[in-house]
Amino acid sequence: MSLTVLMNAGPWLSVPPPGYGGIENVIATLVPELRRLGVKVVLASVDSSTLPVDEKFSVFPDGQFHALQRPYNQVCGVSQAHLNGVVRQLHTRDDIDLVHDHVEAVGLATLSAMGPDAPPVLHTLHWDLAKHPELYGNLDAGERVRVNGVSASQLARAPRALQAHSVGHVHLSTPLAVGADRAPRPEKGDYAIILGRINPGKGQDVGARLAQRVGVPLVLAGPVGPYHRPEDLAAAGDEARQNPDVRFFYDEVAPHVDGELVRWVGTVAGQERDDLLAGAKASLFPLRWEEPGGTAVVESLALGTPVVATARGCLPELIEHGRTGLLTGDEDELGDLLLAAGLLDADECRREAAVRFTPAVMAQRYVDLYERVRRGARVP
Ligand code: UDP
Repeated sequence: MSLTVLMNAGPWLSVPPPGYGGIENVIATLVPELRRLGVKVVLASVDSSTLPVDEKFSVFPDGQFHALQRPYNQVCGVSQAHLNGVVRQLHTRDDIDLVHDHVEAVGLATLSAMGPDAPPVLHTLHWDLAKHPELYGNLDAGERVRVNGVSASQLARAPRALQAHSVGHVHLSTPLAVGADRAPRPEKGDYAIILGRINPGKGQDVGARLAQRVGVPLVLAGPVGPYHRPEDLAAAGDEARQNPDVRFFYDEVAPHVDGELVRWVGTVAGQERDDLLAGAKASLFPLRWEEPGGTAVVESLALGTPVVATARGCLPELIEHGRTGLLTGDEDELGDLLLAAGLLDADECRREAAVRFTPAVMAQRYVDLYERVRRGARVP
């Protein structure tokens, strides 16, 4: 296939990300498969990105992860200028067939301002748009921009203006799903895990409380705002509290972190992350938001760890209740489900991941969407 795609990864983190990194993980997973299918990829990202691509645009000097929780217009102001530089360069070349954009309003605002000769754009929605309408408040996507969601539920909650430009959804995937059904069965420890940013939407406060109620050891893994290690957060002092996730951690989660039954281990990465997730008897998602895509959900399945979750956002699309996990609409019931999770079959989880959540499945779906976008298609 001869198709050249500009992949706009945004200002947050390098690709692949050093530890935590939602959008960056998606791109790092997608790009090698696209290239295997013959797609040429030009990556617009921060200087430190190491993902092998056909060409790299270093549009952002440093990762802007510290700005993740800032008002978006502040961050957008910084990165918009850089992105405009990319767009200007794009105008001087005609070999980009399509822009695959991941950068919320930053990308769309720029791209919708591009001239009539600019390539078509597929913008992947990564957030819960009902919760963050401000990201698309001034959207005039224009006829060249199409959007896709990472779940059907995410799209269903998106503002109408975006839905009108939708070409469907593509579930997230993980390299861990490749051959997951043939990998040796992991030894299970006596603990549950919540893997993700410490954030009210992810519900670590709920999880910590219920772990203490039912007496199941719980590991909380993930960054608190920009702080990846407990010692870094401790050293940061009071100023760190300006970050809303830090405040949430101190006010709602830390009182339940006793270092024994409930532990916060900071960000985990690589083999350590995989071992911790594979060794857990349940992967807990006590969600307080409509989880849009859930990479950590599909990673859990790939590693043979059943998911226990509130049935919000994409969870009912990814998890079959009673087979690959246990879902409930009632937060209070999560504790009982946590105790029952050991009855589920790890192999069912891994089989499901190997069929539905491999990078190859995701990449093929994107290639199909790229073709549709280039033909100007949209969902009626
Ligand atoms: N992650 C990680 N280490 C951590 C916490 C999270 O590697 O300590 C990874 C996790 O495995 C997943 C991604 O960060 O690949 C989070 O993506 P997800 O879609 O689950 O959540 P988001 O933060 O994008 O809402």
